[in-house]
Amino acid sequence: MQHFASDNYAGICPEALSALLAANDGHVRSYGDDLWTLRVADRLRQLFETDCDVYFVFNGTAANSLALAALCQPYHSVICHQLAHVETDECGAPEFFSNGAKLLAVGGEQGKLTPQTIAEAVTRRSDIHYPKPKVVTLTQATEVGTVYRPDELRAIADTARQLGLRVHMDGARFANAVASLGVSPADVTWRTGVDVLCFGGTKMGLPVGEAVLFFDRRLSEDFAYRCKQAGQLASKMRFLSAPWLGILDDGAWLRHAAHANAMARRLAAGLAEITGWPALFPVQANAVFVQLPEPVDAGLRERGWLFYNFIGAGGARLMCGWDTAPETVDRLLADIRELADRPA
Ligand SMILES: *Cc1c(COP(=O)(O)O)cnc(C)c1O
Repeated sequence: MQHFASDNYAGICPEALSALLAANDGHVRSYGDDLWTLRVADRLRQLFETDCDVYFVFNGTAANSLALAALCQPYHSVICHQLAHVETDECGAPEFFSNGAKLLAVGGEQGKLTPQTIAEAVTRRSDIHYPKPKVVTLTQATEVGTVYRPDELRAIADTARQLGLRVHMDGARFANAVASLGVSPADVTWRTGVDVLCFGGTKMGLPVGEAVLFFDRRLSEDFAYRCKQAGQLASKMRFLSAPWLGILDDGAWLRHAAHANAMARRLAAGLAEITGWPALFPVQANAVFVQLPEPVDAGLRERGWLFYNFIGAGGARLMCGWDTAPETVDRLLADIRELADRPA
């Protein structure tokens, strides 16, 4: 049975799985010194049209935390949205791995930061007692399923530059954002001023693993040591890296992301038609947030559906993945229709 709890409920997509199996051939060098890892890093440089430094880690919490730690001293601070994964779902790992850099969480409509909220957080204080702002971190697509447009990114990065901040992007769902915008990956990262991208693989259909891309290569000095110390250097690195080849080689990463986005739009359109309940946020990626009446929520769970209620700003989060079938969306909608029609 398929669920709407998270895109990490899905299995491995076929393209990644066949690349994983292909890599399971004989002996190769360990710790990233293998041809698979070198090929994927090159393939990512091609995709992003730039000579960036590439690292592979096991998960998004490590990618974000270690990348932020690379951008900060312990007395620095990182401006993030109050719904950001780094703030709400990483158990203090960014603070831990940076030896104390503080997250400064700010508000903002639709899960987004703006140049104004960032400038306000930076210029609020300038004295020695305040942790010095050094980085702004953006999530693309955001935790509430919205997407920063290129002009929004550029405005934020320009402001960051003026204020002396580095720009980090949590791209756990970067593929969904790129598919939604129809832009080149370069145009929504380094060309608009993003210094470091954590490019999510897991939610895209890989078995495990995220890539950390340093567009400003000076920032990756000693990053390999950070990864090793944090227990994030895979000895059989080829099994973290090779699955990327499968999804990058024929554009499967974008196809799967576009499919997940389309399933979210189908779900949102069906909900609006059946119930009139509006999505709580514009559906621009692969998530639909909706306030379900309590009996409907309980009824869906009774029928075995799994989904989260604790993410973002409340409401049910219904998340589509690379393999979400249209029939699954329609089955959920049919159950919602029945439950919503019941007399209270
Ligand atoms: C899933 C996710 C991550 C990564 O989480 P891990 O469980 O550590 O892999 C990071 N950022 C966002 C926005 C996410 O949704």
